[in-house]
This record gives sequence, structure tokens and C-alpha cells, in this order.
Amino acid sequence: MYSHSVTLEQTKCIGCTDCIKRCPTEAIRVRGSKAKIIEDRCIDCGNCIRICRNGAKRAVTDDIDMIQKYKYRIALPAPSFYAQFPKAKNIEQILSTLYKIGFTDILEVGCAAEVITKHTNEYVQTAKNFPIISSSCPAIVRLIQRRFPSLIHHVLPIISPMELAARYIKIQYLEKGILENEIGVFFISPCPAKATEIHRPKGLDRSYVDGVLSMQDIYKMMIYKMNTNQNIDVKRQSSYKGLSWAMHNGGLDENTIKSHIAVDGMESVIGILEKVEDGTLSNVQYIEALACTGGCLGGALALENPFISRYTLKKWIEEDLAKGICSNEKLIQEIASLPYAFNKDITPRPVFSLDRDMQKALTMMEDIETLYKQLPKIDCGSCGAPTCRCFAEDVVKQDAKIEECVFMLRKRIQDLSEVMHNLTQTVIPTHNDNNRKE
Ligand code: SF4
Ligand code: SF4
Repeated sequence: MYSHSVTLEQTKCIGCTDCIKRCPTEAIRVRGSKAKIIEDRCIDCGNCIRICRNGAKRAVTDDIDMIQKYKYRIALPAPSFYAQFPKAKNIEQILSTLYKIGFTDILEVGCAAEVITKHTNEYVQTAKNFPIISSSCPAIVRLIQRRFPSLIHHVLPIISPMELAARYIKIQYLEKGILENEIGVFFISPCPAKATEIHRPKGLDRSYVDGVLSMQDIYKMMIYKMNTNQNIDVKRQSSYKGLSWAMHNGGLDENTIKSHIAVDGMESVIGILEKVEDGTLSNVQYIEALACTGGCLGGALALENPFISRYTLKKWIEEDLAKGICSNEKLIQEIASLPYAFNKDITPRPVFSLDRDMQKALTMMEDIETLYKQLPKIDCGSCGAPTCRCFAEDVVKQDAKIEECVFMLRKRIQDLSEVMHNLTQTVIPTHNDNNRKE
């Protein structure tokens, strides 16, 4: 079991430092010409995967062979998954190909998304602690835990569609008398943060998802098995309502909640969260915040260009509307009858914690400030830390040496040469000095 999905392939890393500045939690350092991820800080957002031109960062997900461990192999395809197949005849064709690669059952996550949208609207209408911040993107919840801990009480205390779908389908099988170890529930994910989520679920003591499979891996298996002549005998469970979840504003009924902001892309989200922190947005009811640009369609494990994905989904939404395809209302009602609220608090996990001993932490803080004042404050990154402040922190925590900063190294050399020069002037007697004494 892995605690983080995003990992580094050391041999591919050339230590270029491109990734260190784009990590939203300052979790990357370059030391000895190789990047290193500080695990406690990483939120598995996948930003560094997109940035690294050398392919040195990658997302680890479960191996597809894992499904063979189970007699009942249930796929949970997210709406964003369908968008990876712009040439598919329809969504039914995609679903039927999932059976061909070994799954025995499917539950469309879109069904649970429809239910979560309804619960979200109800919650926001009665909430007092505005703005409510969406909780479906695990990278954003982790960002709040680490960088904006004062905003934790704004997070929507409702589980994700993935979790609700997994809970529903597993309970269905258990109620038929099937043993839990025979049931494997697999989410097909566009994002590394979901892969970590099932091992450390937020707001929950356990996840009902048994494995997270990469969208890219499943796509590669499916694309050769899809053909236009295949028999399609699969019925849709969700409709346009579930499909829209994968797009900007998907988790929101705009007719009910008028005062809202939908923001995507890590840097834009951070900008909005800073505004929430300073109280500027207290009149906004709901903020849907997604780590990837383009929402789940832009996830690091998605293959298709997010703009094309959006176009594809829109096309299918229009087709659903034109054909009058409706969700399976009985199924939706059954899912809606399940518990959907967090059963565990989300706790702050601040990035900047120096020591458990308060006195020691204060002393370290003073040392950091003193050192920071001496640094050039240009955040050049050549020391391998994203900012001069981070570098000062690393030095005080003894994770870096002061000489790793080229400016400090130059200053040290200058100081040293001055000392040497003074010494030669005052201490070592010259030949002439000796002659004079005689
Ligand atoms: S972007 Fe980061 S991981 Fe990729 S080569 Fe450069 S330092 Fe290494
Ligand atoms: S996945 Fe995100 S948080 Fe983790 S190291 Fe990469 S950029 Fe930083």
C-alpha cells in the first residue's frame, strides 16, 4: 500500500528545479541534483507531473491485475472517463467495453454525483458559515488542511460521489449474502489524489473503494476492444445530470444557489482561498474549488485534452437531452437513502510546523527570521528550495547547509578572503619585518 500516489523516478530527474516553484505546498526540494518530495507536505495534486519535462514524476495507482483477486469486480467510472473517448458511438459502448476487459458489474459514479448535488444544495441553503467550500476534490481539502487550516470549518462535510457510489454498491452485494472479500470495487480515476484518498479518506474512518485504477491504464486496455459492431446491451444509470459533474460548476445547482464561485487550477484556487481567509468573500454562499485546470477533465491521469473532453461531454449531454434519456430514478432514490455526511473531523495539518516543543519551535522561528534577513530574498531556487524563506527553514531544521545558497557561499568566501588578507597583514611576519628587527 502506498501513502502517496505522486512519486519521483530518480534516474529521470536532472535536477532542473522547474517543479519546486509550482508545488502549492512547497513540498519539493532539489538536493544533490535530484528532486525530493517531502511526504508530509505533498497533497498529491499532480502539478509536478504536468510540469516535469523529463517525466521524472509519476502517479502510482493500483495495478489492473488486482481486480482478478475478486469474484465480483465492480467498475466505478467517473463522468470524466467517458470524455476520454471522443470517437465512441455513445456512452453505452464505453460501458460495455468495461465488461470486455474483465469487470463483472458497473455503477456509474454520475448517479452518486446527482445525489451529492442534491445534498449539497440542501446543506448550503441552511448553512450559516459562508462560504461553504466543496469537498469533492481531495487535493483541495488537503491544501486547506495544510495551507489554510483556519478555513477547515468552511469545508462541505459531505462525502464524494466516488465514496457514495462505492458504499451503495458494496452494501448491495453484502445484502445478497456475498462475502466482503469476494467484492472488489474499483474507481477509474483521472487524478492521483483519489488514489491516495482511499488509503487515508478524509472525513471518514474507512473507504468502500478497494482499488483506484488509472484512467490512462484502462483507456489503453479498452481502446483496442472497442469496435463499432460490438453488441451493446448496457443500460445507462445516470444521465446528463451526472455527466455535468465533471465540468466546471458540475457539483452545483445554479438555479438554487445563486451566489457562488466556481474556480479551477491550483493557483486560482489559492487566490480565492486567500480572499476567503481575509473575509472578502463572506457574502458568497458556495465555492466549488477544483485543483486541476478544467476540473476532473484536466486531471493528471486523463489522456484527452481537457477542452476536447469538455466538448465531448457537452455533446453527450445534448444527446441525452434530445433523446430524453433519464437517470434510473429508483437507483438514485436508493443511493439517496444512504448516509452521506462525514463521520470524522478534518483536522489541520499545517505545513509550517517546526517542533512539538513550543519553546524549541519559537527559538527555531527566531533563527529562521534572522537567517532570512541575511538572504537575498529573490527566490531564485538555485539552492533547491522554492523560496528564500523555505531555504532558511531548511537550514534551521538542518535539512540544508547555508553554503547551498550561492549568495551566502560567495559572501562566506569574501569574508574568508578578507580574514586571510588581514591575517597576512597582521600575523605572519614578512621577510622585510625580520630584516627590520635585526
Ligand atoms: S522538474 Fe523536478 S522532477 Fe522534473 S527533472 Fe526537474 S527537478 Fe527533476
Ligand atoms: S503532487 Fe502536488 S503537492 Fe505533491 S509534490 Fe507534486 S506539486 Fe507538490
